[in-house]
Amino acid sequence: MPQTSNLANKSSLNITFCGAARTVTGSMYFLEYTHESGKTYRFNVDAGMFQVGQDVSLYKMNSNLLFEPKLLDAMILTHCHLDHCGRIPILVNRGFGGRIHSTPATRELTEIVLYDAAKQQEPDPRDKGFHLDALGINRDDLDPGLNTDWFIPKSPEMMDKLYDQTDVELTMTRFKTHEYHSEFELFPDLWVEYRDAGHILGSANVVISEKKNGEVIRQMIFSGDLGNPNKPIIRDPEIHKDLKKLTHVVVESTYGDRLHPTLQPKLRLKEIIKKTYNKGGKLLIPSFSVERAQEVIYYLTELMRDNEVPAMPIYLDSPMAIKVLDVCLDHPELYDEELKKKIHEKAHPLIYKHLKILESIEDSKSINKLPAPYILIAGSGMLNGGRILKHLLHNGSYPENTLLFVGYQAQGTLGRQILDLWKTGDPIKVVVDEADMEIRAEISVINEFSAHADQAMIKKWISELVLNRDKVESNPELRVFITHGEHIASQTLATELKHQHPSDLDPYYPHFGEKVTIWE
Ligand SMILES: [Zn+2]
Ligand SMILES: [Zn+2]
Repeated sequence: MPQTSNLANKSSLNITFCGAARTVTGSMYFLEYTHESGKTYRFNVDAGMFQVGQDVSLYKMNSNLLFEPKLLDAMILTHCHLDHCGRIPILVNRGFGGRIHSTPATRELTEIVLYDAAKQQEPDPRDKGFHLDALGINRDDLDPGLNTDWFIPKSPEMMDKLYDQTDVELTMTRFKTHEYHSEFELFPDLWVEYRDAGHILGSANVVISEKKNGEVIRQMIFSGDLGNPNKPIIRDPEIHKDLKKLTHVVVESTYGDRLHPTLQPKLRLKEIIKKTYNKGGKLLIPSFSVERAQEVIYYLTELMRDNEVPAMPIYLDSPMAIKVLDVCLDHPELYDEELKKKIHEKAHPLIYKHLKILESIEDSKSINKLPAPYILIAGSGMLNGGRILKHLLHNGSYPENTLLFVGYQAQGTLGRQILDLWKTGDPIKVVVDEADMEIRAEISVINEFSAHADQAMIKKWISELVLNRDKVESNPELRVFITHGEHIASQTLATELKHQHPSDLDPYYPHFGEKVTIWE
């Protein structure tokens, strides 16, 4: 006798929060879906690296998984940032053999990010040690006696690093890509769809729907990292009004307690360029390679093309940012309408005669002797390594030059050290690339660049989900898991959301390792 309606109730889904719980980095969610047939499928949404903001050993945090990777059937990746993809090679190294799903641009960018991460873990030729610190992992954290449940190193050397190039090579063979809005069946009755998160190129919200006979029974959504409206290059985050059967949301809260200033970064950039130019100086911009460097180039090109600042060479001296720029240029289908219009009516803001790419170390060295004016963009964004250090050594002690910060500077980085000294007004005496120096260049900061939604944007995104779902008796409140934020940011957002939708929404900020039933 057919029992389809009864059997439909037997499927279940649960989630374990394996990272980015009451902290920003290490995004990783482990999900177990039991189909009505009784078969259980296991999958991850993201497997990111813990990077900053932990009081405990980051090496141990990154090594210690809360599940057996061999049992994983699939991986859903939201976007290419290291705090979302950085631990995938660890899973592959320890036996995960399934598919890694992503958008096409995310696959391309993840390849760049992971090879760079593996490279950062290679021995430092100067001291034969490992320099995991470039990933934000303190060398003192390395624990040769590490013994975690699922940690089986390939060789004794692997005890000193999380993975190597070979692991990344293998990881990249596992990808399967999907366009936005192209729903696919991950497991029987469980469907996945990527939608534009407007955070960085290829970034996605993930909609998971359980379907029976083609009809949606229940849904959940992961925000991944949520972007800001009006960012250059990419489209705004999608607002979803069609998720009628939504029961659960996992949302990031990086800026859950903050509102972004309205001032345009382009205007600030204009002021700083003019001031430096008038002093006869050079402008040095340490920048993250993914997205931020391309955004800065976009604005610089526009300012020079529109004669708002004098035209001068813009040197891009970051092998990783150069590769990311290529990926950006290869995906015009992901551009927002504004950029498409600009390309159509004027010219491409990422292609410019004054933009000079410095590929080799020799190219990089060659500009040190060049006189002002010029603008230099180089990694790393927090001055904790990369080609920017040599440029800072050569140019940092001249007051006519400007050192401009365009991104977050984490505790323990040279960037943060310089900013902290600058704020106190003390002489900025620091060690740059093993040499003592005093920074006399002018320090400037632009805080208006942000890839993350602020509180108002997150509230708007959630509100539309709440207002457009079918409110059912069995599930009157939308359960919202607030993750990817410091405790205070998540807490503030939870209070705000509850205030906004007192009877329709149930916010909660899970802790590390917590397992919760989604559907039963
Ligand atoms: Zn991100
Ligand atoms: Zn993130």
